[in-house]
Amino acid sequence: MSNVKGKVVVITGASSGIGEATARLLAEQGAHVVMGARRVDRLETLASSILSEGGSVEYHTLDVTQLEEMQTIVELALSRYGRLDVIVNNAGVMPLSPLEALKVDEWNRMIDVNIRGVLHGIAVGLPVMKEQGYGQFINIASIGAYAVTPTAAVYCATKYAVRAISEGLRQEVGADIRVTLVSPGVTESELAESISDDEARELMKDYRRISIPAAAIAQSILYAINQPAEVDVNEIVVRPTASM
Ligand code: NDP
Repeated sequence: MSNVKGKVVVITGASSGIGEATARLLAEQGAHVVMGARRVDRLETLASSILSEGGSVEYHTLDVTQLEEMQTIVELALSRYGRLDVIVNNAGVMPLSPLEALKVDEWNRMIDVNIRGVLHGIAVGLPVMKEQGYGQFINIASIGAYAVTPTAAVYCATKYAVRAISEGLRQEVGADIRVTLVSPGVTESELAESISDDEARELMKDYRRISIPAAAIAQSILYAINQPAEVDVNEIVVRPTASM
């Protein structure tokens, strides 16, 4: 018995990688998927592909750093389907560098997208879910939320923050709203393409050789949604088997 069929799921950062794989899988399983990202041309192509497979999908341009844009996409879900079952706060960036490179703009971008973006999803989604009396947040952190690695201090800090926020949210929201933290290890996606620092790029090249497909992370998101309402999967860590 699928608990995903008919659910309305907003996914941020759905234009590539884990967000795209999750949109495809959940639509295949009968969810109404509402996708957001800045590259709306990518969303359009993905939506056509999902529709051609018989899936149900809407999309809207979304910059998660802008609270009103998060509001717009949740309103799209509500006006189209009349409910909001799940927000997958997935959008993220990872321009890694050693702290001494002082890439302050990149630090700020990670803080804005990875932390503020998740908080904006909560700020818009929580009142709706409280009013409905049900809902689920799925926040995408990282194995970087559990241990800091070279060149990744700020990125890991943002993911530790996502983990802390998720646990705090879980404790506060009580019986009706589920909170799930999904922490991927190295996964095939476009995430490493924004690394501008040579040292970090070289380290990452090696590290990414054992990447697992984005669909593997989508499966863990599906698993968490698929549980009965009284079962809240709090944390899932998914790594390549070959990880240290
Ligand atoms: P991708 O770079 O392939 O996807 C990132 C997505 O985030 C894109 O769709 C991008 O869309 C979107 N995004 C970036 N900035 C914004 C913004 N301001 N507003 C809205 N959307 C935005 O990487 P992944 O799929 O790997 O990343 C997804 C999540 O998984 C991230 O949170 C990442 O930190 C996490 N993660 C990934 C790992 C990996 O190895 N791949 C490991 C651990 C965690 P657009 O540019 O069109 O806006």
